[in-house]
Amino acid sequence: MSTLTIAQASCADDYDPNSMPVEKARAFIHRFLDPVSTAARVPVRAALNRVLAEDVVSPVDVPAHRNSAMDGWAMRGADLKADAETTLAEIGASFAGRPFGGDVGAGQCVRIMTGGVVPRGADTVVMQERARAQGKSVTFAPGQKTGQNVREAGEDLRAGSVAIARGRIVRPAELGLIASLGIGEVAVYRPLRVAFFSTGDELKSIGSALGEGEIYDSNRYTLHGMLTRLGCDVLDMGVVRDDPKLLERAFREAAAAADVVITSGGVSVGEADFVKDLLGKLGEVVFWKIAMKPGRPLAYGKIGAAHFFGLPGNPVSVMVTFYQFVREALLALMGVDPVPAVPTFTAKCTARLKKAPGRTEFQRGVVARAADGSLAVRPTGEQGSGILKSMSDANCFIILGDDTGNVEPGTLVEVQLLEGIV
Ligand code: AMP
Ligand code: MG
Repeated sequence: MSTLTIAQASCADDYDPNSMPVEKARAFIHRFLDPVSTAARVPVRAALNRVLAEDVVSPVDVPAHRNSAMDGWAMRGADLKADAETTLAEIGASFAGRPFGGDVGAGQCVRIMTGGVVPRGADTVVMQERARAQGKSVTFAPGQKTGQNVREAGEDLRAGSVAIARGRIVRPAELGLIASLGIGEVAVYRPLRVAFFSTGDELKSIGSALGEGEIYDSNRYTLHGMLTRLGCDVLDMGVVRDDPKLLERAFREAAAAADVVITSGGVSVGEADFVKDLLGKLGEVVFWKIAMKPGRPLAYGKIGAAHFFGLPGNPVSVMVTFYQFVREALLALMGVDPVPAVPTFTAKCTARLKKAPGRTEFQRGVVARAADGSLAVRPTGEQGSGILKSMSDANCFIILGDDTGNVEPGTLVEVQLLEGIV
């Protein structure tokens, strides 16, 4: 953790809070992240989606025994003629979980199935498609290589080596890998506790009727979903009116109860001033206008020991700033190390996109393979930052960098998928 204060860091020469590039804001936030350190041992299944607090070290060789990669016969490679058929005598069988107890001598072979232990004496397996059996006499095709189709003990993983490093999120593959080592419990970090609330006099909760100019609060629902999917322990503190006293109380309560406080609304020009004064009193917070769309206003800082993210009010801006800034920061705070970069790739844009240079835009798109086999992406209609349907219809962000201007149909654009399959 940096000993630099947020105020000191925000006085750096090249720091412009009125036009903060996306990358610079990410790097700034990163300097202040102090990951959770408390860990507990949990049964393997309960570790799903949690972050490993210790390396998982293999207590055994994987595979544990030298075994066959094919259904076929095991023999001494030296017995097989290179350019003519070879006939050997079958003396037994080795099936997965039922090894052959004896030795394989010269002129002999053993029927073997995939995963079966390769018996003593044998060093080679010929697949059954390359063999012909007549009773206990088996003839093998020429052209076999000594050592083929044999998986050596410890070939995948040596006993004592790290199977999964600390800092990795446990997914289904890790559950299986841990189980395959015979390990029943692993150490994982405690979940990150995140408190959030919405700000705005116009916001109503579901169940109450809307008056003139009022809208339903949707940000608490998207935040609930995004945080829960990330594995955070969420504390929904409801809607708080644009009233300094109520806001002060909410900020204090949230910071006392959670590792991270997230709010939406109240950071745009006009609204930011009293929130700024308030947070100046309660902690250390910087207010930025990020050179991005949507999501221009963003606040980041500390309120007591809690990290604070002040997101814009617009529903799409909330989701974009969450995925582009908050997600990565939360993963780091959860103990994920290193935080893997979300891969991007290029696809041909099928529509004209309006784009002003000088900022990064995250438009919402649908990417799919076109009839000619290439990847094509189209924007999901209207891109206004209040239009949540553009996010709901999308399966990707179309990322248009600072230097990009309008995009003509047929241009290759950078795309980032919203969904992973595991
Ligand atoms: P603000 O940043 O508070 O000025 O809000 C910007 C826009 O987002 C305004 O149109 C708000 O009504 C809207 N907005 C703010 N908070 C929410 C919310 N929780 N749910 C839906 N819309 C919101
Ligand atoms: Mg507001």
